[in-house]
Formats: sequence, structure tokens, C-alpha cells
Amino acid sequence: MDLRLTAEQERLRAEVRAWLATVMHAEIEGFPYSEEEDPAALRAFNKLLAWNGWIAPAWPREYGGMELGAVEQLVFGEEMAYARAPNGGRGPAVGYAGPTIMLAGTDEQKRRHLPGITNWDVVWAQGFSEPGSGSDLASLTTTAIRDGDDWILNGTKIWTSHAHYADWMYLLARTDPEAPKHRGISYFLLDLKAPGVSFQPLLNIAGRKGFGQFFFDNVRMPPDGLLGEVNRGWYLATTTLDLERSNIANAGGARRTIDDLCGYLRESGVRASTVNRHRLAGHAVEVAVVTMLSYRVASMLAMGAVPNQEASLLKLFLSELDQRIANTGLHLLGAYGQLMPGSPLAKLQAQFALTYLTTVPRTIAGGTSEIQRNIIATRGLGLPRG
Ligand SMILES: Cc1cc2nc3c(=O)[nH]c(=O)nc-3n(C[C@H](O)[C@H](O)[C@H](O)COP(=O)(O)OP(=O)(O)OC[C@H]3O[C@@H](n4cnc5c(N)ncnc54)[C@H](O)[C@@H]3O)c2cc1C
Repeated sequence: MDLRLTAEQERLRAEVRAWLATVMHAEIEGFPYSEEEDPAALRAFNKLLAWNGWIAPAWPREYGGMELGAVEQLVFGEEMAYARAPNGGRGPAVGYAGPTIMLAGTDEQKRRHLPGITNWDVVWAQGFSEPGSGSDLASLTTTAIRDGDDWILNGTKIWTSHAHYADWMYLLARTDPEAPKHRGISYFLLDLKAPGVSFQPLLNIAGRKGFGQFFFDNVRMPPDGLLGEVNRGWYLATTTLDLERSNIANAGGARRTIDDLCGYLRESGVRASTVNRHRLAGHAVEVAVVTMLSYRVASMLAMGAVPNQEASLLKLFLSELDQRIANTGLHLLGAYGQLMPGSPLAKLQAQFALTYLTTVPRTIAGGTSEIQRNIIATRGLGLPRG
């Protein structure tokens, strides 16, 4: 087994790193902690990425991508995360909306929607969760009822990330209330400027505009708002999740945090307690473990396999590790660790107070830790369902 990257992959890493060194500066680096606060600056950063062809590096060239393989995609993601480059809504567009449109869209839908993603003219949001439907998503109650050739949408979507600057939403709605719950759902593409759409921002635990709630009051969607077949939306949504190639979780951000903390301890002369030194050393080992887990997922994808419990294991371990590292950072920085951005006394860009808070939702978003453990238990360990 050869765990080294190829010369070509190392060249890509160097190219991305050199590019990031020219565009990243202190304010942009702060975005991972406050990126929802300045949508215009985020859009400008993503426009820069688009200009390089790097919005969707794994996509086929005909849709504006670079056809990078899964390992190259991971290398790219590691460098972006290590540099603390902002995400700015690329996840839902590149990871979910785009691949689903490629899979099930008509030629017209592909022509209309895909260039807007790779040029970064259109920001997409994901409309899956509802107030009563999260882990049990198939219980959703938002409805889309036919009216001639159009569809009339009523209901609500909640916890929508990037909500306050999104232009379009891909969403699931119930189109056959009589059918068994998984079989009466369809997949739609909605222009969020349509009459009848309203929006309420929601502040996250850190007091930031982390997400929002959308309300649909008799929103008329044209026939080409439907993606794929009527009542097959559930299967399309799960296929998208399986097909999702572009966001292999990586340890770049965690590695950077450890490096920042070690740099701070070396330069400040602060003497960390033995307990905290051991915690930090333990995290360095855990980061190495996550790196291996992410390369396992990438190499499965590269061989044409679809990771399942392997991706759950990676998501679970990394999101919980992020919380542990944030906790250690707070301990190491002492009272300074609690200062929020803007404080003149804050250390390390005041990242730890905010990170401590913003790593909490990471174990909820994209499927909670309990759901990931259920998957690992049943599909990974072969245990019977509880
Ligand atoms: C930061 C953030 C961003 C998000 N962005 C989006 C977005 O852009 N679009 C979108 O559609 N949604 C988004 N979500 C919503 C997210 O997908 C849901 O919050 C998540 O799926 C959990 O659903 P819920 O909140 O309804 O909790 P519930 O499903 O009600 O779960 C409550 C608790 O019960 C546990 N639980 C539930 N079922 C089981 C089970 N079978 N076995 C064991 N335990 C169980 C859960 O683990 C959890 O602890 C986001 C959430 C967060 C935190």
C-alpha cells in the first residue's frame, strides 16, 4: 500500500496553496467564524474562485468543473480548509443542487441552472428540514399541489443555511398525501423571489445569522420547477446524498487550529499545564486519524464505490473532534479564550469563543451524531435495528 500522493496531486496542492496565499488576508480568514455577516464579501471571494474554475473542481468540464478525481478533490478541500477560506454557500450548490440537476434535470434545466453555480451568479439553499421533520425527513408536510401545469406550494422550511443571501432553493414537498410517506414526495427548484415566499432570519447560538425559516403561501411554481419524476423525489434526494462527491470532510481546519495553538504557546511563552499539553498531543493524533478516514472515503470514491457507514464514521469523528479541540483551545487561552471578535485583547483572532459555540451545531447539521451512530451500528457493525 502506497499512501503517498502522486507528483500531479502534490503539484495541485502547491498550486492551490500558492493561490490562496495571494488572496487570503486577515479579514477573509475570520469568515469561517462570521461568514454569514458579509454576503457581498463572500460573493466576491467565490467570484474569485469561479474565475479560476475552482467553484466545483470535481464537476465535469461541460458543466464548468475541472473533472478532478476524489483524491484531488480532497487535497483541494484540505488546502482550502487549512487556509480558512470561506465556504459561502458552495456546499448546497456544488454538493447537492448541481449533481441532482445533472442526474435528473432536463437539458433545459441543466443549461439554465448549472452555469449559474460555476460562475457563482446564483446562490442555492437546501429546503429539506421542517419544524416537525429533521431526522425523520420523510414525514415532511409542505405540499405542492397541481394547478393546471403549475404547482402550488404551501408550508415552511427551517434551519436553511445561507438563507439570507440565497437566490434559489432545491426542496422536497409532498405531492401525494395519500401515498406511503416516502412515495408521495417530489423534488422542486424554486426561485426565492417568487410571490408568496417570505423569510425570517434565525440567529444561531453565537448570535449570528446562521440560518433562516422560509414560509410558502400559495407560491406558484412553473412546470419546469419539478426536477425528475413526480413522487420520486425521496429517491432522488437519497441518490444525491450518495452521489455527493464534492464535500469529502477533511481535517484541514482541525490541523490548522492545532498549528495555531502550538504557535501561540511557542511564541507567547505561556506555559501550558501537563494536562493541556497531553490533550493537545492527543488531538494531533486524532487529526492524523481523521486524515486517514478522509482518504479512505476518497479512495473508495476513486474506485467507484459509494461510501456509506465510512462517510458517517468520518463525519461523526471529525465533528466531535472539532468540539474537543475548541474546548482545549479555551482551556489553553484561559480568560482570553472567552473574548469575542472585535476585542482588542483577543488572541488568535478570537477564534476559540466563537468556535466553541459554532462547533455545537456541527454534530446536528447534515444528520445528527445519533443518526450517524445508528448507521455505523446497523450498516457497519451489522447490529439489528434498535
Ligand atoms: C447549523 C445547521 C445548519 C443546517 N442547515 C440546513 C439546511 O441548509 N437545510 C436543511 O434542510 N436543514 C438544515 N439543518 C437541519 C438539520 O438537517 C436538522 O437539524 C437535523 O437533521 C436534525 O433534525 P431536527 O433538528 O429536526 O432534530 P430531531 O430529528 O427532532 O432530533 C432531535 C434529537 O433526537 C435524536 N434522534 C432523532 N431520531 C433518532 C433516532 N432514530 N435514533 C436516535 N436518536 C434520534 C437526534 O439525534 C436529536 O438529538 C441544519 C441544522 C444545523 C444545526
